[in-house]
Amino acid sequence: IPVQNIRNFSIIAHVDHGKSTLADRFLEITGAIAKESGESQVLDRLQVERERGITVKAQSASLKYVMNNTEYMLNLIDTPGHVDFSNEVSRSLATCQGVILLVDANQGVQAQTVANFFLAFSNDITIIPVLNKIDLKNAEPERVSEQLNTLFDINKDDILKVSAKLGTGVEDVLKAVINRVPPPSVNRDASFRALLFDSWYDRYRGVILLVYITDGMLQTGDEIASIHTQKCYEVKSLGLLRPEEEPCHKLLAGQVGFVTCNMRTTEEAQIGDTLHHKKQKVDSLHGFKPLKPMVFAGVYPMDQSQHTSLRSAIEKLVLNDSAVTVTIDSSWTVALGHGWRLGFLGLLHMEVFNQRLDQEYDAQAVITAPSVTYKAKLKGEKNIKRYGRSEISFSNPVYFPDPTIVEEFLEPMVMGTIITPDSYLGPIMSLCIEHRGVQQNSKNIDNHRVMLQYLMPLNEIVIDFYNQLKSVSSGYASFDYEEYDYVSSKLIKLSILLNGIPVDELSTIVHISKASVMGRRMCLKLKEIIPRQLIQIAIQAAVGGKIVARETLKPFRKDVTAKLYGGDVTRKMKLLKRQAEGKKKMKMVANIELPRETFIDVLKR
Ligand code: GDP
Ligand code: MG
Repeated sequence: IPVQNIRNFSIIAHVDHGKSTLADRFLEITGAIAKESGESQVLDRLQVERERGITVKAQSASLKYVMNNTEYMLNLIDTPGHVDFSNEVSRSLATCQGVILLVDANQGVQAQTVANFFLAFSNDITIIPVLNKIDLKNAEPERVSEQLNTLFDINKDDILKVSAKLGTGVEDVLKAVINRVPPPSVNRDASFRALLFDSWYDRYRGVILLVYITDGMLQTGDEIASIHTQKCYEVKSLGLLRPEEEPCHKLLAGQVGFVTCNMRTTEEAQIGDTLHHKKQKVDSLHGFKPLKPMVFAGVYPMDQSQHTSLRSAIEKLVLNDSAVTVTIDSSWTVALGHGWRLGFLGLLHMEVFNQRLDQEYDAQAVITAPSVTYKAKLKGEKNIKRYGRSEISFSNPVYFPDPTIVEEFLEPMVMGTIITPDSYLGPIMSLCIEHRGVQQNSKNIDNHRVMLQYLMPLNEIVIDFYNQLKSVSSGYASFDYEEYDYVSSKLIKLSILLNGIPVDELSTIVHISKASVMGRRMCLKLKEIIPRQLIQIAIQAAVGGKIVARETLKPFRKDVTAKLYGGDVTRKMKLLKRQAEGKKKMKMVANIELPRETFIDVLKR
């Protein structure tokens, strides 16, 4: 296929605006899947994705489409649709010359629409604005077009209107992709060069790479090398994803395809890396930006006998999710034993990972409250010498440094964007202030909707901010954020004691202004989530040895069969069995049984 007949594009949209549905229609129209195969959302492969309705891992498909007697190759790069994964969106965009900016004609522009637009815009990518769900009774294409015009200066005549569900207008979108998006500008005569933009693990073939060829061509048997790792491989197979694998013998510049080369670990497949022929050195392609975990949490087996199986499950899962970082965490862990410290892109990423451990590997883990990475500037020559540097980083509350050796603490900030109907403005602004947000910007995007921007500490949003925002706005406000800088902050470590024993896994790092409020809230919450036990339990919160809050959990003898009068033995057995199962999900900490969700739930409202 000549380069001028290739189009590389992706669909970017706020979650639920219909990206997967539109992708399915594209697959049907181009014959990649049969109509009414009943298999909806073909590109969403994971069980969690179907359940949560969000795309976690980008999947792609090469579509063949004939227009005016010319055959085109349309490479659709699917992108994940949640704030946690915006880094994955940007790496997918590095392969694209165009994007479809899909907006629900009923909901209108949302926070992710804004973030996605500027991502594409700043990369000089052609943007095709498309309104979806025009079949809905309360669709307001006029109003939403107005928003696109106000916010992004988009010409209303350029906006397409479709129903991805019914298929209305969808073919016009494909035509617009061909007419408006330029073909990739690549050089087929140069020596081979490719951008590695996705990878996953296959038990039999090792790592499968998804690449965008920018120069020359690639054939089976070629010897290739990575600029980043300097490692060499022999190409075993390559081909197109349509979306099923369609093997071929060569991939030409401009194309997107998969490659296998006996690569054993996804760690070797650094997203954004440049590949080249082993013997022909090339310059690295721009845009290598390693995925950076933002949120860290401890992961532990329910009991130590499950240590090996949990480790193997984590290893397997990480093979398919290179955005997760794993370090071994041990020795200090009094209550939970040996475990790991995992880094995630965000809270949703963490929950998805946990759910996949459970569903795909039947591995139940205890996950501790997530934390962000803080920094501390050290005081005095002696301390600097001892640590070998003047600034240290830590995410685990256990490693919170002694405040007397710290000159200044720093915490990471984000720039958050919120879009909301104006009737919720009051409660949303209070919520942001409560989370230490500082307003930077506010703009009316139509008669009833406002866009707000707040500078906020990352640690204030990783736990529960998103749910609270949804709840104060009856689900109408949307939120997205991007990384900002580190700023000076007054941080303290809030410790939790159960019957006088400090439980490090429950301790957390908070801003000084929150110490007593958080302490009280955590004690109350623990009182609520810890089941009553045979002994009385004192729950205390402390800062530097000073108790700031206290609750007492009264003892209680749990006898689930007490209410049953004699006779029904099977019912009694059933209940006893259920009680035993309930026990399995408990974790012994400081001689107290804690439900495994305690460590995260304690921080939620
Ligand atoms: P994604 O999160 O952007 O991938 O969104 P999905 O494709 O999963 O769609 C979210 C929901 O909107 C699903 O329930 C779809 O059936 C529905 N949906 C998608 N397109 C349309 C449409 O054109 N009209 C209507 N009425 N519903 C749609
Ligand atoms: Mg989807």
